[in-house]
This record gives sequence, structure tokens and C-alpha cells, in this order.
Amino acid sequence: MGVVDTLGRPVRDLRISVTDRCNFRCVYCMPKEVFGHEYRFLPRRELLTFEEIERVARVFVDLGVRKLRITGGEPLLRRDLEHLIAALAAIDDDLDVTLTTNAALLAQKARPLADAGLSRITVSLDSLDDEVFRAMNDVDFPVARVLAGIDAAAEAGLQVKVNVVVKRGLNEASVLDIARRFRGTGHTVRFIEYMDVGASNGWRLDDVVPAVEIVSMIGAEFPLEPLEAAYRGEVAERYRYLDGAGEIGVIASVTQPFCGDCTRARISADGKLYTCLFAVRGHDLRALLRSDSSGDLEETIRAVWERRADRYSELRTAETSALRKVEMSYIGG
Ligand code: SAM
Repeated sequence: MGVVDTLGRPVRDLRISVTDRCNFRCVYCMPKEVFGHEYRFLPRRELLTFEEIERVARVFVDLGVRKLRITGGEPLLRRDLEHLIAALAAIDDDLDVTLTTNAALLAQKARPLADAGLSRITVSLDSLDDEVFRAMNDVDFPVARVLAGIDAAAEAGLQVKVNVVVKRGLNEASVLDIARRFRGTGHTVRFIEYMDVGASNGWRLDDVVPAVEIVSMIGAEFPLEPLEAAYRGEVAERYRYLDGAGEIGVIASVTQPFCGDCTRARISADGKLYTCLFAVRGHDLRALLRSDSSGDLEETIRAVWERRADRYSELRTAETSALRKVEMSYIGG
């Protein structure tokens, strides 16, 4: 039976982080000064196993979840990830199983993932300018290999979305390049306002390029018109190119928060349940999964969701953005 929180919001989407490690050091997400050689990532035994993830996912599906997104860290770093995809895709025929990746390893992984039952994939790509991209991922990774990953995914039959985080002064000049490149390819691009997640990226409101500015920048070159939301809780505002070359989305989580419609839950790689991306604390499901009382899993998750009152983005102020929140690489984007 379904469940709603204190604000009447059901749980529809579950984001599952399968690792807190990443092969990139994007300056706005896992800056090297914080995530350097000394940084202690989770030891393997602390990660949920694929069996444990599947058990949790099944409970969430019983509670109303219709979409699972695998994320991280970089999910393709988790060995045999396609086995997890196959197990999750088998839970229910109508379940939408998807994955967010930086695509560094996608060229070799696209086919096994598609064969395992993945139908859609989201690739993060912040610039087509090789110099800017290498500086943003901070491990000197070339754009060409991400583009090769995107092509491999499309060839394997995966539907591809491209996510672009826009940070003022860093990659705003890339917005038009990316729009131009993916128009007419069938790959929808979504531009995302830079958010104050975590505590290590030194976020300032001035760094945010508002979604309205992004839409007008693109619309000045390629006229756009707004589209209706496809479903309740859709985070992207959608626009279509008037010349029929497809659509784009913008995610205005800072300038137009959408907490009222937030139906997302998140599981960190070590099995903590978070009911908000900006949470400070999670609920330990792993302890329950590994104890004799794991039968209480559904009851516990239901109780956490029923208590949920989070609406961080609607309450955001300069003070809240300085809180010690969990990092995006840990909780999963
Ligand atoms: N490694 C995978 C990837 O690159 O897509 C999945 C994890 S990553 C944390 C998920 C997404 O979060 C990426 O698209 C990344 O750009 C985005 N992200 C990270 N920090 C962000 C921030 N401060 N504001 C907005 N998006 C952010």
C-alpha cells in the first residue's frame, strides 16, 4: 500500500547510490582539496550488497515507487553493475530503471547495461570545450571520450539524456554549444542550476545562472516554447524547439524550488535513507538489513516517510546554505 508524508507527498522515485567513489574530481562536486589522497572512502563491507539493494528497492516499490535511478559517486565504478540492473529491472515490468553517469566507462558498459534491461541513461556533461571540460572534471578527462560513450549508449538502444550543471563564470559559455550539438539528435539536454549541496563546494548564490537566463540565451538563437509537465513531480521544466529539433529542460532548483512536488527518496551507498538532497542526517537501513529484525524494513521506511516534512529549497537562505549537509557524491545526485 502507498504512503504519503506530512505534506501529502507520495514516494515515487528512489535514487540509489552504489558507491561514494568517483573517477572525476569535478571542482563543484568533489574538489581535490577535500577528496584527495587522504580522503577515506567507504570500505567495501560498508556498501550495501546488490542483494541488499534489491531488498530495499522491492519494499519501496511496494510503497509506491515507480522509478529507480542508480547513481553515486560514479556508478560504473561498481563492478558487475549490470547484475544489479538485471535484478532491479525484474522487480516489475512497469518499473522505470535508469542510471546517471559521467560516461567515462560507458563505451564498454553500454551494451551489457542495455542487455541487462536498462532502457534509459543520463550522462553528465558540462562543456564541449575540451579545455573547460578537463578543468571542470579536474582529472584531465577529454570530452571526446564522453561523446563516444553517448554514441555507444545510443547504438546499444538506450535513450540518452544529457545533464549540464551551469556555474557562473565556469561554463555558462558552453550552454549554447551544447544546445547546438544535441539539437536534432533525439538526446534531450537538461540544464541544471548549480545547487548548495554538501559543504565542500563553497557555494554562493552569485554562482547560480538562473534557469530563465538559460532559456532566454538558447531561445534567442533557437526559438522555444514551453511544454506541459509530463507528470506530477517532474523536476525539469520542458521547452520545445519551434523548428521541431526536439526539446530541452531546465531544472530551477534554486530559483524556483519544487519541494511541494518532491516525491524522491535517496539511499546512500552505505544504506542510509535520506528524504531530502539537503539533509543533514539519514536513517540507517543497513543495520536493519543485517539484523534479525529485517522484517521490519517496510514498517521502518513507511514510518520515516510518514514523518517527512523536508522542504529545504523553499526555506533556503544564506544561513541554511552553510549548514553541514551530506555531500552529493555520497548521497547520490
Ligand atoms: N558520477 C555520476 C555523474 O557524473 O553523473 C553520478 C553522480 S553525480 C553527483 C550526479 C549529478 O550531480 C551530476 O550531473 C553532477 O553534475 C550533479 N551535481 C553535482 N554537484 C552539483 C551541484 N552542486 N549542483 C547541481 N548539480 C550537481
